[in-house]
Amino acid sequence: MHTLDEADRQFALHPFTNLSAHQKQGPLIIDRGEGVYVWDDQGNRLIEGMSGLWCAALGFSEQRLVDAAAKQFAALPYSHMFSHHSTAPAIELSKRLVQMAPEGIGKCFLVNSGSEAVDTAIKMAWYYNNALGRPGKKTIIARQRAYHGVTVAAGSLTGLPYVQDGFDLPAIPVIHVETPHAYRFAEPGESDQAYSTRLADSLERQIIEAGADTIAAFIAEPVMGAGGVLIPPDGYFEKVQAVLKRHDILFIADEVICGFGRTGNAWGCDTYGIKPDIMTSAKQLSSAYLPIGAVLVTDALYDAFSQYTDKLGVFGTGNTYGGHPVSAAVALETLRIYEDDDIFGQVRSRAPHFSERIQALQNHPLVGNTRSVGLIGAVELVADKDSKTSFPAADKIAVQAMLAARKHGLIVRAAPGDALAFCPPLIINDEQIDDMFDAVTDALNDVLKANS
Ligand code: PLP
Repeated sequence: MHTLDEADRQFALHPFTNLSAHQKQGPLIIDRGEGVYVWDDQGNRLIEGMSGLWCAALGFSEQRLVDAAAKQFAALPYSHMFSHHSTAPAIELSKRLVQMAPEGIGKCFLVNSGSEAVDTAIKMAWYYNNALGRPGKKTIIARQRAYHGVTVAAGSLTGLPYVQDGFDLPAIPVIHVETPHAYRFAEPGESDQAYSTRLADSLERQIIEAGADTIAAFIAEPVMGAGGVLIPPDGYFEKVQAVLKRHDILFIADEVICGFGRTGNAWGCDTYGIKPDIMTSAKQLSSAYLPIGAVLVTDALYDAFSQYTDKLGVFGTGNTYGGHPVSAAVALETLRIYEDDDIFGQVRSRAPHFSERIQALQNHPLVGNTRSVGLIGAVELVADKDSKTSFPAADKIAVQAMLAARKHGLIVRAAPGDALAFCPPLIINDEQIDDMFDAVTDALNDVLKANS
């Protein structure tokens, strides 16, 4: 007989894990959850300061979602959307998503994950340009440090070496442009607007150099999550959109993290004035209770698809589980809860306290930069605050902080650029926000002591 720990080491191959280290340290086994808390198999209670993987917006014990799943399982556990088939939950969900989406969005295509949504968005951008007789428009512009998933196409757009190295990615034509991160990359004294203009000018130069007739789309997370919670400088998306418009390049908004209130509005697009041609979403769409994703497109794209399918026969893409009725029923109930409980309004009213507690960490000797919007944020750890010098990579300073936080009852994430990321369930209250940042402070003090 194996213990769970032994069986995990022996049989499970873990994603985004150093495999040999895992053999030595073993798994953190989580076995139950309630509200914003989870418990490990040793009985330790932890605040889930990352909502799992930026996704469990309603925490870990929302009975309405359990009931919605049970009801749909009993009525119809499976059907699909191929060849004109449909189900009530998939129809209702599509309607609700389109109605809450930014102006111009007219149709919804259901998938199972963020990566699948991004892959589908890329295919749609290609299909659209082929439909318009512009087959040369293929390259996707993404940004360094972006995270768009791991499948062959989405993983090609992700701008983080640890996702691509060893996997022969990128495998599709992609240009990675600069990350907007004022703390690191703005010139001394440069205003947000001036920095944004510089980034937009650089984007335009790269488009002209490659040839606008080779570029299909630009993809961006409104707030970059996995790359270290990077918040765009003022004016950035306005200036970028003007460039894209001039060169007839589609804007794909990757809303997989920002979608559903994370930044204080339904979409990151609402917070930053983005008018997307295509949007991808997943994660908080079902509060992560079941896998589901969605790709939303404008009427203009849909009309081009529709005419093209008359020529080709069918819109030849889709997945067995796309629009799964149980996932769709749970997603629909999630969106109803967001509305009934005014979850996005709650995010807006908690955000000032969350931001105040993050900003207070600026006084800590290890913290060079703090940033947040809505209920997502990060602190960036540095060896020297004045010169912004980083710790040697081998110190893994953010990983040290993440592990120290766990000893203080908190799950947070070590992200690239020595960032410590926070993305708690949207239902967190002020007292729990205090507990969270008290634990972060204790963890940073431990790390400071261990490294001095
Ligand atoms: N896009 C963004 C912005 C993400 O953060 C993620 C996952 O973290 C993905 C896409 C990929 O989603 P999934 O892990 O569901 O494939």
